[in-house]
Amino acid sequence: MFFKDPRETVLSRAKARRVKLLAGMSALGLCLTLTALTPAPVSATAVYRTAEAPEESPLVEAVAVTVDGVHAVTVDSRETALALLEEIRRGYETPLTESAAFRERVELLPCLTEPEGVMAPADARALLDPENTASPVALTVLTMAPVTREEAVPFVTETVLIPDQYSDETSVTRSGVDGWAVNTYSVIYENGREELATLTDSRIVTEPVSEIVTQGALPGSRYDSRGVYIWPTTGVLTSKFGSRNISIGSSNHKGIDIGNAAGTPVCAADGGVVIFAGKNGGYGNFVAIQHDNGAVTHYAHMRKILVEVGQRVAQGQQIGEMGRTGTATGNHLHFEILPDGETRVDPVGLLTGELQRY
Ligand SMILES: [Zn+2]
Repeated sequence: MFFKDPRETVLSRAKARRVKLLAGMSALGLCLTLTALTPAPVSATAVYRTAEAPEESPLVEAVAVTVDGVHAVTVDSRETALALLEEIRRGYETPLTESAAFRERVELLPCLTEPEGVMAPADARALLDPENTASPVALTVLTMAPVTREEAVPFVTETVLIPDQYSDETSVTRSGVDGWAVNTYSVIYENGREELATLTDSRIVTEPVSEIVTQGALPGSRYDSRGVYIWPTTGVLTSKFGSRNISIGSSNHKGIDIGNAAGTPVCAADGGVVIFAGKNGGYGNFVAIQHDNGAVTHYAHMRKILVEVGQRVAQGQQIGEMGRTGTATGNHLHFEILPDGETRVDPVGLLTGELQRY
């Protein structure tokens, strides 16, 4: 057997070994931190020789490697320790690597131990291996390297306000185009896996083209009611509101007639919601629009209807084409305003501006 005293337990042997190791660690001059790439040489042979009596010795000189202060492995020499640490570190270096270091504080401590306490380099290497997730003393290798990437430069959007349009009126007048840049990052890898990339340089290859969007500056929507009415079409006022003496239609005219060519655009007198769109007896093709204040406008005899019930229309938006459907002797628009939604009044007093002939 290796030990002289057979009663000596494994435990007490381990304890003795630990005491010797601690004695070595207390000599601060022997500690070496390996986080720097080029460790300073250490010479301290004299310190631990005095601690050992020759006659007890199966003990041999060795080097303990500690990781964050915890004894990890023991190898035969400082050279062996440095070589296996170097091997582990180099495993994560590439031609681009600018620096490499262990995240943990690694120290080499000369010590004395029984010969069987000295590990084979391969066994020590396996315990310290960063990929050995089962090992409590597995090291972490941090490397840093520059990485160049070609990346898109997103375009920006410029908004141009249009003074006489409403805020919901937008249009893209020029589409944006992404640019391209060659970006250089300083990338930190942890055991070869990218952890953090810091942009260090950017060279624009193609400038982005900004997108230009126009937007109305007026608050609200163009579909809101303005509370004023514009003439719904162009032409000639052929029949006024009220009592009249003609051969066809009511003797009490409930609206006004504006005559013009078939197909002349008919537009909403104010913004609102279409509440009727279709054939309506003597009115022919007929549209009714309800405005936000409850007022209703009627448009009759149209050749063609361009809106649907429920549709929101803006003031001035075309809703149909002038015609002579229903009870009509010629192409004209019959137009009514019902300010309370029920009672027809003379529209002429409520319409702003002049009736345009064409
Ligand atoms: Zn009429």
